[in-house]
Amino acid sequence: MKNWKVFVFMALIAVIGFAVVGCKGKDEPVHVHQWGDWTVTKEPTTTEEGEETRTCPTCGEKETRPIDKLEEQIIDTTYELI
Ligand SMILES: [Zn+2]
Repeated sequence: MKNWKVFVFMALIAVIGFAVVGCKGKDEPVHVHQWGDWTVTKEPTTTEEGEETRTCPTCGEKETRPIDKLEEQIIDTTYELI
């Protein structure tokens, strides 16, 4: 009887497959965020960057991104030294 070895091999492949596909958790193996619209949570000024946020209502995950400073007085050439 060699069948059990095949069975074990197949089971191993299945386990590895699930582990790779569902690496983000057992409850939500493939969750695609349904992002809402970006909402400004911090208004940018000429000296400070602002911030906006969007939320996935399904899982409550939040994502933020910076808003560029208001263009008025452009003095920051220091960043280009890097
Ligand atoms: Zn989500």
